Amino acid sequence: MKYQLETIPVWDAYRAGGECPLCILQAKAERELLAFHLGSSVMAPEMRVEVNKTGFCPSHFSMLLGGDNRLGLGLMTQTHIAELRRKLAAKRPAGGGAKGMAKRIDAFEALLDEQVPACLICDRLAERFARYAFTIAYLWNDDQEFRAAFGESAGFCLSHLPGQLQLARETLSSSQLVAFATHLEEVQERAWQRLDRALLAFTGSFDYQADPAQAAAIRESVANAIQKLTGVLPPSG
Ligand SMILES: [Zn+2]
Ligand SMILES: [Zn+2]
Repeated sequence: MKYQLETIPVWDAYRAGGECPLCILQAKAERELLAFHLGSSVMAPEMRVEVNKTGFCPSHFSMLLGGDNRLGLGLMTQTHIAELRRKLAAKRPAGGGAKGMAKRIDAFEALLDEQVPACLICDRLAERFARYAFTIAYLWNDDQEFRAAFGESAGFCLSHLPGQLQLARETLSSSQLVAFATHLEEVQERAWQRLDRALLAFTGSFDYQADPAQAAAIRESVANAIQKLTGVLPPSG
């Protein structure tokens, strides 16, 4: 599959530093997508059709609810519910006698299971992720300056690491992939060691009252370690 190169945002994320450039890129993409779905686009007929069909996952619905277009969200939700009710009516368990009731409940449940995970924002985020991870693998192979920045980075969080490896597998030749994975492993290992030292220093600083200035500098190691494990960016500020 051919993906679009996203050189500028990827370089920006590497320059920003931190535990995982893909966390930064995905958070930015998510903010843009939320703004898009709270903007004038919600009135466009083709967008309404897409929202009616797919909807949003619980987490993105709740982020949209925290946004500043309650009216637009209300319109989207109303037409989405109307479409959903039409689909559900076709499989309603009560639509028949006692015979086949268990089967109809199963079919109804299956239909609902299909609806819940679908999310327009998650779908678009997955597309963006593929482009960013492709760009990282491509630049690593193509650009010495980028390879050096990659070598000095902290690698990736555990949420984004497997996806990055999959895109590298799609993008690189088998010998390039071995070199990429080896380089990545060195980078990840260095990041784990740094986090481990910082966490030890932080927890230890409570025990024997180390220099308070140093304690403040290593305080953020807890948030950094949690990002490394989960892909959740530390709160800013
Ligand atoms: Zn990440
Ligand atoms: Zn979602």
